[in-house]
Amino acid sequence: MTDTHCPYCSLQCGMRLTVPAQTSDRASSLEVTPRDFPTNAGGLCAKGWTSAQVLDVPDRLTTPLLRGPDGALHPASWEDALSAITGGLRDIWAAHGRSAVGVFGGGGLTNEKAYTLGKFARVALRTPFIDYNGRFCMSSAAAAGNRAFGLDRGLPFPLTDLAGADAILLLGSNVAETMPPALRHLSGARERGGLLVVDPRRTATAALTDDEAGLHLQPLPGTDLQLLLGLTHVVFAEGLADTDYLRRRVDGVGAVRREVAQWWPERVERETGVPADLLRRAAHLLAAAAPGRGGAGAYVLTGRGAEQHAHGTDTVTAAIGLALALGLPGVPGSGYGCLTGQGNGQGGREHGQKADQLPGYRSIGDPAARAHVAQVWGVDPELLPGPGVPAVELFKKVGRPAAEGGIRALFVHGANPVVSAPDAGALEARLRRLDLLVVADLVPSETAQLADVVLPITQWAEESGTMTSLEGRILARHKAIEPPPGVRDELWVWRELAARLAAPAPFSDDPHEVLAELARASAGGIADYGGVTMERATREALYWPCPSAEHPGTPRVFLDRFATPDGRARMLPVSAAPVADDLRPEAPLYLVTGRVLEHYQSGAQTRRVPQLARAQRQATVTMHPVTADRLGIEEGTPVRLTSQRAVAVATAVFSTGIRPDVVFMPFHFAGRQRANLLTNPTTDPISGMPEFKVCAVDVASADTPAARLALLSEEARA
Ligand code: SF4
Repeated sequence: MTDTHCPYCSLQCGMRLTVPAQTSDRASSLEVTPRDFPTNAGGLCAKGWTSAQVLDVPDRLTTPLLRGPDGALHPASWEDALSAITGGLRDIWAAHGRSAVGVFGGGGLTNEKAYTLGKFARVALRTPFIDYNGRFCMSSAAAAGNRAFGLDRGLPFPLTDLAGADAILLLGSNVAETMPPALRHLSGARERGGLLVVDPRRTATAALTDDEAGLHLQPLPGTDLQLLLGLTHVVFAEGLADTDYLRRRVDGVGAVRREVAQWWPERVERETGVPADLLRRAAHLLAAAAPGRGGAGAYVLTGRGAEQHAHGTDTVTAAIGLALALGLPGVPGSGYGCLTGQGNGQGGREHGQKADQLPGYRSIGDPAARAHVAQVWGVDPELLPGPGVPAVELFKKVGRPAAEGGIRALFVHGANPVVSAPDAGALEARLRRLDLLVVADLVPSETAQLADVVLPITQWAEESGTMTSLEGRILARHKAIEPPPGVRDELWVWRELAARLAAPAPFSDDPHEVLAELARASAGGIADYGGVTMERATREALYWPCPSAEHPGTPRVFLDRFATPDGRARMLPVSAAPVADDLRPEAPLYLVTGRVLEHYQSGAQTRRVPQLARAQRQATVTMHPVTADRLGIEEGTPVRLTSQRAVAVATAVFSTGIRPDVVFMPFHFAGRQRANLLTNPTTDPISGMPEFKVCAVDVASADTPAARLALLSEEARA
């Protein structure tokens, strides 16, 4: 019996794994039962309940694969696979230098793996080009949190704190489908009529505002920023701001007040479609809940819907500005937070996978940070490369000639970018042009299928390590079952490769040793894990910063001061901008992408679980019946979506809960059903976040002979 946490999202629901006595030791016989852990309080969603089945799917990778002269992948020994990698790297280094190699990591890797992957890139490969798929998840909220508060911790308070609030403003997060056990934390605000949901769709979460439980604000996609500026306008214009808090704790108020002065509710209504009256009611509900006005507390929370835009950092900055105007951050029972998505989206961005960071959230450009980390690694600081580039820029280098600064070899760990990256078709073509693509995974994901070398690796119940949840709590993941023979831990893979490449620093494959090294490397940094051990993470509710063995950890940050040099938060004026891919006559609808209840991220794991696959086997496109009628589309028939970049296909489903100018498609599916074939790779200038959430599309029935013929010829061309 092993107490652990769900392998999927950042809620990290507590669960217990049991190997029944009389059955085989196959992983699928593992019994999953929920535990009474604060984030899930005994609840699990369908993904968590079925999580053990992924370990034993029929196409589980159990031997390395090498691409042969016939162009197919063939089973190989570990010795041959590792030799193919080191031989390929040496050829590329000799011809093009160290910077012709790139690394792409994942927000699902344990802290120990994220840390070691960053070290492997900088010390063994000596390339600056490492980034990870968290760039596609939380980077806008991280950038906005850093510039406002001087620190990025998704929730700077325990999730359970939400229960006491009178009001919660939830922007772009469909908690009811993405993390259902978290709904219990919204029930207090709901009971008090204070759940405010901002979403262009009437999602299951938005429906929770019915019966006077709150308000649903349904803006045009890409206009959350205008909506937030309008709410802040009302707060200042109608005397709802907490002026005493602003005076004591915040800089930059005057500039923001001047900026929002031009966003009166009727103007916001014209741009967003949200009635001015509703906007005023929302602002007053939030203000009444704020402690400065005698309320029990209020929270402003953002999710991917508000963040995944080419102006995502500014949108989150506006959300933080609203929270500051109301006097919420750093006050017990109130605050601003980001609902992190991936299982280790928080820890994964703290310990060196990001292009510009070293462990402990240290900047790789800071000489003192370089010296500290180099000393822990036992190398000369001069040996460490400088900052790389964010994921979309890194992917633009992939497959280009080395003479043009291109990347000729890429390692992919814990990610499936062929499905999850924006403009995924273009990335797929670039990956095919690489000299060496190495993918480590537990199943043959769409990205693994393009690789030259595929490495079968352990997952979740087969390994130990730590994860950091959405609230900054460090959790222990304990090994419950042996992996299949032939499967290896990525820590072992990097140790072996580093040794064969004569890396100038030792690498360990023992997660306890790696965590001890991570603790030393992060000590004194922003995300300080100096006092974290596996034993403490198992035993205690341990939140970072936790600088020493004696330190109890920090459940709530900012209570006394913000993490800026002077301890004051920075309120920053931001301007609204149009979406990067605006509507045109040939693309008259906005496509919004997102998740559904049954699937997780690229779907590489959940699409292989029979119950989940049965519940949603293929991509759907949700549209208003009025839109469908205008376009001559029948429910349940194939639909063709065309953006500036590509064509995708999905099955039509109708909903009156979506705006008639918007369609919605989940991004979990592969091949022609990939929503990310359509999405826009334009990025936020600060965070590098792509414009995932809005792109202009033409939508037409594919249920005609001509459309079927067009699709067939596109398939042939592809
Ligand atoms: Fe797992 Fe997230 Fe579902 Fe909890 S909510 S069971 S962590 S996928």
